Amino acid sequence: MKKIKEILIGTHNKGKIKEISYLLNKKIKKITPFQLNIKSPKETGKSFKSNSVLKAKYFFNKSNLFTLSDDSGLCIDCLNNKPGIYSARWAEKYGNFNKAMVKIISMVKQKNKNKKIKNTKAKFICSLTFSYSATKSITTIGIIHGNISEKILGKNGFGYDSIFVPTGSKKTFGQMNKKKKILIDHRFIAFKKLKNKVNIL
Ligand code: IMP
Repeated sequence: MKKIKEILIGTHNKGKIKEISYLLNKKIKKITPFQLNIKSPKETGKSFKSNSVLKAKYFFNKSNLFTLSDDSGLCIDCLNNKPGIYSARWAEKYGNFNKAMVKIISMVKQKNKNKKIKNTKAKFICSLTFSYSATKSITTIGIIHGNISEKILGKNGFGYDSIFVPTGSKKTFGQMNKKKKILIDHRFIAFKKLKNKVNIL
């Protein structure tokens, strides 16, 4: 594959745009759908992978630019892996991310009521797709394991960062230094795998 001069980061999520921009080679010009006035497609897929492929192909076809799209979300063990692919939609359903986090904490508490051993396990999953022609794309998956905190903690980051404590840490993603979080999370893990396959990123 030729050197990449510019890449479309196929998402309207500003938190994801910041993280993906930080990971990409500094020499690549980063373009966003905001600049090109392209709306996001409907996420009709039933898995993280089908949604990231759907988004990357859609944005590639709209822009004719190499495109990187992610589909990601929070899967909580005791809630049968919900909200999962519906993570962004739960924020809409409950009003905003803060309200969705309050709801999740109370649902996890309820599920663990009267249990001797509490299950607060959760994971963030990211499916990252690089689209480089109208029909061709490469996808990788990154997963980071952790637990749901008892309270909303920290103001850094975005989405559900303030209730997720990655394994091995005492802080939520929301309490961590932003750069530290970017270099350990599910998106980073997926990006590292992608970079092994597409070394021009
Ligand atoms: P989607 O991939 O556009 O469907 O949105 C995924 C949603 O999952 C985001 O809106 C966030 O709510 C959540 N999410 C994904 N990655 C992260 C993360 O790194 N931190 C916090 N929330 C995240």
